[in-house]
Amino acid sequence: MELSLADFVFVLLFGSFGLVLLSALLSRYFHARTERRALARRVICRLCLHAFEDSSPARIVACPACGALTEKGRPRHLG
Ligand SMILES: [Zn+2]
Repeated sequence: MELSLADFVFVLLFGSFGLVLLSALLSRYFHARTERRALARRVICRLCLHAFEDSSPARIVACPACGALTEKGRPRHLG
């Protein structure tokens, strides 16, 4: 098979395009993962609806805005 310069440029272009696409997909995947992890830490106060993050293992946390105790996490069990 003969590879002309045009073919070479074509392959090079598509190769770099694929690489860019791959890195974009990868960064998007990792971003979604960290975002989901941050979402698991997010607590919304049931009293004043103040949203805050809490990384402690405690299930019930006190709202920093009004001091009301709010249960963290979702009703669905997360593995
Ligand atoms: Zn509150």
